[in-house]
Amino acid sequence: MISFPIDDRHRINASQLDVPPRLLLGPGPANVHPRVLAAMSLPTLGHLDPRYLELMDEIQTLLRYAWQTDNPMTISVSGTGSAAMEATLANAVEPGDVVLVGVMGYFGHRLVDMASRYGADVQKLTKPWGEVFSLDELRHGLETHRPAILALVHAETSTGARQPLEGVGELCREFNCLLLVDTVTSLGGVPLSLDTWGIDLAYSCSQKGLGCPPGLAPFSMSPRAWDKLQRRRSQVANWYLDMNLLSRYWGQERVYHHTASSNMNYGLREALRLVAEEGLESRWQRHQTNVEFLWQGLAELSLVCHVQEEFRLPTLTTVKVPEGIDSKAVARQLLTEYNIEIGLGLGELAGKVWRIGLMGYNSRRENIILLLEAIARILTKAKKG
Ligand SMILES: *Cc1c(COP(=O)(O)O)cnc(C)c1O
Repeated sequence: MISFPIDDRHRINASQLDVPPRLLLGPGPANVHPRVLAAMSLPTLGHLDPRYLELMDEIQTLLRYAWQTDNPMTISVSGTGSAAMEATLANAVEPGDVVLVGVMGYFGHRLVDMASRYGADVQKLTKPWGEVFSLDELRHGLETHRPAILALVHAETSTGARQPLEGVGELCREFNCLLLVDTVTSLGGVPLSLDTWGIDLAYSCSQKGLGCPPGLAPFSMSPRAWDKLQRRRSQVANWYLDMNLLSRYWGQERVYHHTASSNMNYGLREALRLVAEEGLESRWQRHQTNVEFLWQGLAELSLVCHVQEEFRLPTLTTVKVPEGIDSKAVARQLLTEYNIEIGLGLGELAGKVWRIGLMGYNSRRENIILLLEAIARILTKAKKG
């Protein structure tokens, strides 16, 4: 390793960057498809270059396909999933609006935090971590709180639970409120259709079901949500994420807003092309078939899933840590001895579960076999003490 001083106060390690070959089977990021990495290494273009503008249109079309929506305002936000999460709230929430958030895990809490920063009167529906809301519970919540926005997490990555969304859009129309849904761990892996389900505001990220590096965040808003934005009495409090401004760059006018993350968007385009090539239905089926293979393998190791089968996610599985086993030590061993990353429990589930992600490019049978074999060896050794 070469290390040398740059000046009196700074030294640099000048060896070439090297990273370990990890298999990322945690809650994200997931491994990136080689075609995505290849696309990202193409020359950078200016954000108003005609070829780049074309590529933006292509991304919009591909994203609309992946999300099953016709929403004109469907774009990639520069930033991670949390940036687009913040964009939905920053644009839709006016100070004083009642926002009803379904909290059944860590990311529900993040929605509460963000909504309150934009001046919302936040009301919560809560569930133990690992459970989901029934349509009746949501109806009761809407009757009680009469919100302007109902916010739900489709795929709660902290618990592995999938919130059913059939019928929720109709309910929101009945109560004249917007439906905001976190699809960060569902887009590209879990059956999802914004238009069929009447979802008005949705966001996701590049690094989970889509198989890109982190750094971009898909965002979509329905004409209903756009109308609410146009009727605002106050300005959107966040300049960077203001969709009125961003729509002038993504739309016909092509007015500079901020410098586009061009190479990241090349990667996203390629990832979305892979989704379209595979076809949404087959992609969803692949995730489901593979996760069932994982569940079967876990059962053979006498490991138990935390979530009831009906509501389990195909992209993320929470597994109960057996009595007497140190969850952190097992995860550390998987990483150091097998180069496999999995996630630990968060919040209410800290120390109680592991989180195994099978997202996008990583949802493959051979990865599951590697993981199960490694877990079996580690647990056998641990039991022998
Ligand atoms: C990962 C995740 C986020 C946050 O996305 P970042 O890319 O980490 O900012 C939000 N919601 C859910 C459900 C997630 O899994």
